[in-house]
Amino acid sequence: MKVPVSIPFVSNDDKKIVNKALDKSAISGVYGNFISDFENNFANYIGVKYAVTCSNGTTAIHLALAASGIKKGDEVLVSTLTNMATFFAVIYLGAIPIPIDVEYDTMNINSDLLVSKITSKTKAILVVHLFGHPVDMDPIKTIAKKYNLLVFEDCAEAHGAEYKNKKVGSLADVGCFSFFSNKIITSGEGGMITTNNMKIARLAHKLKNLSFGKKNRFMHDDIGFNYRMTNLQAALGLSQLNNIGFYIQRRKDIASLYMKNLIDLSEFIDFPIEKKWAKSVTWMYLIKLKGPLANKRKFITDYLSENGIETRNNFIPFNAQKIFIKDGLVKLNECPVANKLANSSFYLPTFVEINEKQILYVTKKLKEIIKKIITN
Ligand SMILES: *Cc1c(COP(=O)(O)O)cnc(C)c1O
Repeated sequence: MKVPVSIPFVSNDDKKIVNKALDKSAISGVYGNFISDFENNFANYIGVKYAVTCSNGTTAIHLALAASGIKKGDEVLVSTLTNMATFFAVIYLGAIPIPIDVEYDTMNINSDLLVSKITSKTKAILVVHLFGHPVDMDPIKTIAKKYNLLVFEDCAEAHGAEYKNKKVGSLADVGCFSFFSNKIITSGEGGMITTNNMKIARLAHKLKNLSFGKKNRFMHDDIGFNYRMTNLQAALGLSQLNNIGFYIQRRKDIASLYMKNLIDLSEFIDFPIEKKWAKSVTWMYLIKLKGPLANKRKFITDYLSENGIETRNNFIPFNAQKIFIKDGLVKLNECPVANKLANSSFYLPTFVEINEKQILYVTKKLKEIIKKIITN
């Protein structure tokens, strides 16, 4: 049996809508109603006034920071354990990302570590709702208020997750989403920023479209980007948004099934948790090896791979990226919790169409190899 780690799901409804865009030749990022429809519906779903589409999650973060006035030399406190796109976006602006270690259980930014990293150059905190569990935002916002910092949310893995009954992406100054093919909903490639700040929304709208002049189109107001989402992508994203409840539930059911089948290994594995103030979503089902398994990840994932099961390791944090260590920007050991997670956790196949038989096969093979290790 072959079980890939992720397969994008495209429904017949999705295909119909995309074909509508094709039939009208509304294929670029300038013409077609699906772009504004997707923005309006997404803003409505998240519970914010404004949403602006863009080309992907990385450009969403870049755009959010740029439209909020983050600039060269500014320091931004960033959760170290994330897709490196989060950090790259800060670096694109010439700003300086400062890695902050995470909590072991949620894998999100540890707000206790923030204050000691604040300097006169600090302008913002960029949190990541990693693997679908929301960040505990109240302490972050208290600190931001006290030190006059902006707060950005990277929501690329957490569409629909809630913190104290409010959706992520509505909890801070700007939220940033990705619609890459393995995310909770997809437009193939795609991104969105969400905000209640009209100035930021307007500027983001302008910046993502080359900052054409208002009176004289080719007399540009700014150094803009072409970060436009196409109407074709927006059609797919809009259609997927119409079914987001189903996709979230499906991933939740997959997580429950994994959990149910693996729970007797809780001596050796830590499973995803949900804080009492949180409604998390499952992006990918990630497990943390511990005790005698803590340094056996390669052995385990190799065995799964030999049996046709694809897995993926957790991210490598910013502080452990060789290109930045070499530049003297970070020290490997400055974020020990993130390092521990990065070395001991990985995720199992998680996608809409995975079936119960495949999940049982994955858990059976996982149990086989774990038994081998612990009885040796
Ligand atoms: C996927 C992801 C991104 C980048 O999104 P792209 O659409 O791939 O550019 C950024 N941050 C996190 C946490 C992600 O998972």
